[in-house]
Amino acid sequence: MTRKKDADLTRREFMKTVGLAGLAVAGAGGTGAIAAPAPPATPAKAATVPKRKLGKTGVEVSSLCLGGMFDTINNQLLLKQALKWGVTYWDTAESYGNTLSEEGYGRFFARNPEARKEIFLVTKLEAKGGKLTERLDKGLARLKTDHADLFFIHSLTGIGELTPAIKDWAAEMKKAGKFKFFGFSTHTNMEDCLLGAAKLGWVDAAMFTYNFQVMNTPKMKEAVDACVKAGVGLVSMKSQAGRPGKHEVGGEVKLEMVDRFLKRGFTDKQAKLKIIWENPNIASICSQMPSLTILSANAAAAMDQTKLAREEFDSLHRYALETKADYCAGCGKICQEAVGGAVPVNEVMRCLMYHRYYSEPELAARLSHRRAHAPGRGDVGLTPLKVPGKAGSRQREEAGKSAGLLDSLWRHGVRIIYPRGIFPG
Ligand code: SF4
Repeated sequence: MTRKKDADLTRREFMKTVGLAGLAVAGAGGTGAIAAPAPPATPAKAATVPKRKLGKTGVEVSSLCLGGMFDTINNQLLLKQALKWGVTYWDTAESYGNTLSEEGYGRFFARNPEARKEIFLVTKLEAKGGKLTERLDKGLARLKTDHADLFFIHSLTGIGELTPAIKDWAAEMKKAGKFKFFGFSTHTNMEDCLLGAAKLGWVDAAMFTYNFQVMNTPKMKEAVDACVKAGVGLVSMKSQAGRPGKHEVGGEVKLEMVDRFLKRGFTDKQAKLKIIWENPNIASICSQMPSLTILSANAAAAMDQTKLAREEFDSLHRYALETKADYCAGCGKICQEAVGGAVPVNEVMRCLMYHRYYSEPELAARLSHRRAHAPGRGDVGLTPLKVPGKAGSRQREEAGKSAGLLDSLWRHGVRIIYPRGIFPG
């Protein structure tokens, strides 16, 4: 499809999506801890993505954040459109695209120097690699900026990783003006990381897995409450609760849910965003939006002020219950302990999620490679996926499927009886 056709299609889809969202029906109150007031007959629509305050930083950030785990170099038009629709919180990391994501943002800022002032820019480094100052400087150079607005230690697995040395380093970098605020991202053991952050007092913000699958557990509610009280700004990621399996799940419950949301004018994917925004303590949702179609659908969901009705909360809750056996919340504990710590099961699950649910075999390959060679991994870990560079997408998918991760499990003697037969054996 040509770029013009793509842009035209996107505009049509965007208008259609926003327009359909006006089909509000009378609703009821909320359920659980999240209040869902009766939706107005004609819900308001913001002209751009609304903003929310990011905890004690006091900064108003766009409630939809552009996740940078895609080809930002060759999607400059998408970056421009994100800015136009008010998606002004941009997230990236040294590891995304092996530094290419930062480079793509940097190219945009070099061409649009005025845009940098409008963007709340976040980048991340994994602490394990050391040489943080040197790597941060290189990242800022790639981003063509002299500072990040917020810096995250990437993929925290326990609050103990935020050592006194990291605290001193963060203070030094703030003083040097290299970033304004400090925090972390976490996919593993999220609740304990958040509870620990609330006690530390020097963490400004955290990005963590938060979606319809995990948001209602007592421990997650406790962790979010603790951070809110401590002023730690909260950013959700993995909003769609992607699974390591590829097959459709949910059966009749899913059909009922999709049908219900469609009648209200939004898709189930948009509803999964909306249920997160219903919690006013979540400042933003970081979403991977590698195409204008996804960006427009997510921006439309953010601009549309239609509230979910009680039946819709219930519908998503039923779907969560029906499908939770297929979901890995990344606890990093139970499965690992069951195999004596021999296999990082949650990391395998995460790679499989990128590979199968997101259909991103290259991304899964890069992540598994990084994990396999992470310091301290020793001789136990993941076998990197091997994806032939010149292969077609079908071949790459097959290669990714057959290589590495599942073999690694198998070689370590793991035979997981998984509810819907994701794993062999
Ligand atoms: S699948 Fe295993 S690693 Fe993932 S959340 Fe469940 S017990 Fe934890």
